[in-house]
Amino acid sequence: MNRENIVAKKKFGQNFLKDQSILVKIIQAMPKNDNKIVEIGPGLGDLTKFLVDVKSVEAFEVDTDLCKLLQSTFKEEIDTKRFHINCGDVLQAWQSTLVDEAYDLVANLPYYIATKIILKALEDPMCKNILVMVQLEVAEKFCANAGGKVFGSLGIITQSVGTANIVVKVPPTAFDPQPKVDSAVFLIQKNSDRCDKDFEDMLRVAFSQPRKTLMKNLSSKYDKELLINVFQTLELIQTIRPHQVSTQDYHQLYKIIT
Ligand code: SAM
Repeated sequence: MNRENIVAKKKFGQNFLKDQSILVKIIQAMPKNDNKIVEIGPGLGDLTKFLVDVKSVEAFEVDTDLCKLLQSTFKEEIDTKRFHINCGDVLQAWQSTLVDEAYDLVANLPYYIATKIILKALEDPMCKNILVMVQLEVAEKFCANAGGKVFGSLGIITQSVGTANIVVKVPPTAFDPQPKVDSAVFLIQKNSDRCDKDFEDMLRVAFSQPRKTLMKNLSSKYDKELLINVFQTLELIQTIRPHQVSTQDYHQLYKIIT
């Protein structure tokens, strides 16, 4: 199998990144540390080439044709143990951890499962940093701050475990084939693992109707009298909307009402 014969498969979210300047920006944004690199969906291996120059890489690729191509392209790196490829669905391979040593996830993710992968990486204790390309709209949700229109559960979960920043916005012309949407590379630097499930359940209730007040949403599940008291203690007005409350205040609320 050689790369000229490869036809991008829509079902696997294959949009290959062609713009070299973006590849370089991804490499420059990588946190400096001794962690292993995990790449999900190496595709034709264009980002992988840069990554194996810096560190050893553990990769997961679902497409059998691409897997064979990568095995021949990176034969030398496989022999010298700088590169290891797992052929199959990364979500199937992912147990409580994806690999058994500290790693940074660096990838141009398949967009149809990007949010799921990032949430898995946030709860994986071996994953220390996440540097990924996703749809711009998704990147903005993970990097959002309280008060911003798209601030919601993804932003709060991310801020609870670390910090997130957009590295670079990427137009469709950077890819072949071109996606219909804008993309962005963003970086999450973790300093703890994903918060507990009950906290995330509370967030689901808090944002169940994003345009309604937080009080209305929360009182569908939690005691109204208690909520009135907690809002007073935290100096939150009764009409506040879910996206206007800070991550810190959500944690305070959670401690008291559950
Ligand atoms: N890294 C390459 C690049 O930047 O050009 C390709 C990125 S492409 C957006 C997404 C890649 O993820 C494809 O190679 C696709 O086959 C792979 N992929 C899709 N679903 C996957 C899954 N469930 N497990 C592992 N890889 C997957």
